[in-house]
Amino acid sequence: MKSPPVVFTKQKTMLLKFIVVLLAGCSIKKSNFFCNYPFATPEVSPHSSFSVIHSSLEELKLDGYLNFTNIDHAAKDFGNRYHFLPSAVLYPTSVSDISSTIKLIYDMGTSSEITVAARGHGHSLQGQAQAYQGIVINMESLRVPRMSFQGGEKPHVDVSAGELWINVLHESLKYKLAPKSWTDYLHLTIGGTLSNAGISGQAFRYGPQINNVYNLEVVTGKGEVITCSEDQNADLFNGVLGGLGQFGIITRARIALEPAPKMVKWIRVLYSDFPTFISDQEHLISSEDSFDYVEGLVIINRDGLLNNWRSTFSPKDPVQASQFKSEGRTLFCLEVAKYFNPEEADTMDQKIDSLLSKLNYIHTTLFLSEVSYVNFLDRVHISEMKLREKGLWDVPHPWLNLLIPKSKIHEFATEVFGNILTDTSHGPILIYPLNKSKWKNGTSLVTPKENVFYIVAFLNSAIPSPGGKDGVEDILSQNTKIINFCERAKIGMKQYLPHYSTQEEWKAHFGSQWEVFAKRKSLYDPLAILAPGHRIFKRLVALQSP
Ligand code: FAD
Repeated sequence: MKSPPVVFTKQKTMLLKFIVVLLAGCSIKKSNFFCNYPFATPEVSPHSSFSVIHSSLEELKLDGYLNFTNIDHAAKDFGNRYHFLPSAVLYPTSVSDISSTIKLIYDMGTSSEITVAARGHGHSLQGQAQAYQGIVINMESLRVPRMSFQGGEKPHVDVSAGELWINVLHESLKYKLAPKSWTDYLHLTIGGTLSNAGISGQAFRYGPQINNVYNLEVVTGKGEVITCSEDQNADLFNGVLGGLGQFGIITRARIALEPAPKMVKWIRVLYSDFPTFISDQEHLISSEDSFDYVEGLVIINRDGLLNNWRSTFSPKDPVQASQFKSEGRTLFCLEVAKYFNPEEADTMDQKIDSLLSKLNYIHTTLFLSEVSYVNFLDRVHISEMKLREKGLWDVPHPWLNLLIPKSKIHEFATEVFGNILTDTSHGPILIYPLNKSKWKNGTSLVTPKENVFYIVAFLNSAIPSPGGKDGVEDILSQNTKIINFCERAKIGMKQYLPHYSTQEEWKAHFGSQWEVFAKRKSLYDPLAILAPGHRIFKRLVALQSP
């Protein structure tokens, strides 16, 4: 590693170069830079500089390979609305494949317009893992290191960032261990979720997944391979966590583990009164003695809801539950889970009764289920398989994920669930509180200012109707209404999995964190080669003759 003064001087020089090129660009060819430019369509010329480096790329000595023809899949993602075709896909089998490719592009400087995007499992929503006419790195083909487990006081696993969380779960269980913090869906890569946050019903206790990482190996936008942690290259470590892939490509992560339980009691109860619902949720996330998982759902205008649950859950009191009618009311479902091992089964029911006795749900609506830990964590995959069978998985997904401060959640709910939304037929709406005191400071993740805030996730699917309309426009217009309301009412909302078109909007998103974010970009990816799909920074290119 270089000594600090040299690094500092080099970084300063780079920063200066960055500013000079930026200013020159803004005065000479403004649309090539990020000066308030809306990126509705990519604007790299059709005969981009890719041809210039095509031959150099072909000459690169790689352990894996580059594919220049079979590239269509890299222009798709789960959102299924943005499709930007790259020029090549890199299938790395070593970290040096990634670093030498990026270094080649970096060394060409501003004479090339080539960008690079890491693609995890491609479950982004708006093309975030795509690179128009650039290179997409298929992270799943990077399987080094093979997962390596360490027990002791701080059990952990070293894993390739292209690995799926579901595989980490299965391997960890062989050692009776498991990661602490999850996402609701596990067919996502380590690098993909660490670039955002990784939030689920365990985050109130452990923080999001970015809190549960001991160290990372990262390839920066200059092609350097750097190991970072709280104690070593901490600025890069903090930047990369929640950093939307802007500062480097994560190639390896050391993930914290804990002893894994075998079984889960999974419980749903209903509320018709929003203040009671959130008061119970807030009580659960602030108690030491609580469930292991706390989430919630909003249900608008849905009849027959409880019947749908019956395939997984059994009502505690079947007679009373059968008499429960939603009568068009908006209902709120608290979803909680308690982990246990078979030897604790007897005491677990009492424990759960005691926890439930402190809650004020509608008592006829207690639904219970007992499932294995794996089936609980992999629950969304079970729904995925059902949707795939019906051809309803690969539809457009105009999702909207918001973080709402606790002090405004009531106002938000009144307007959004009471006036803007008329039904939930487009997909589930999740709502649950998170506790910032458990979250690591200094990462790139942006959250509302208050200590407790809610994640509200509108997980819409645009399903084609018999007339052929898929409703994307209607859903997008509903999303816009929600965002506009938040702005008008000064809710202090922050987007999770954020999506913006102009740098001004990104600046507003980052607020006081923008300066640090932009500075890190200039240090670790000064040419803005990485993660172009977020449209935060514009690739730095030299002036081309007309
Ligand atoms: P990709 O979509 O491939 O990439 C996402 C971004 O990360 C891109 O910008 C990409 O360039 C970058 N990236 C990918 N790999 C790396 C890397 N190794 N290094 C640096 N940058 C990289 N999120 C939650 O927090 N909680 C949930 O419960 C949750 N549930 C979800 C359920 C479903 C069905 C879906 C589709 C998404 C869900 N998400 C959830 C969102 C999910 O965490 C993000 O979309 C995540 O980015 C997807 O991971 P991926 O591997 O598919 O990443």
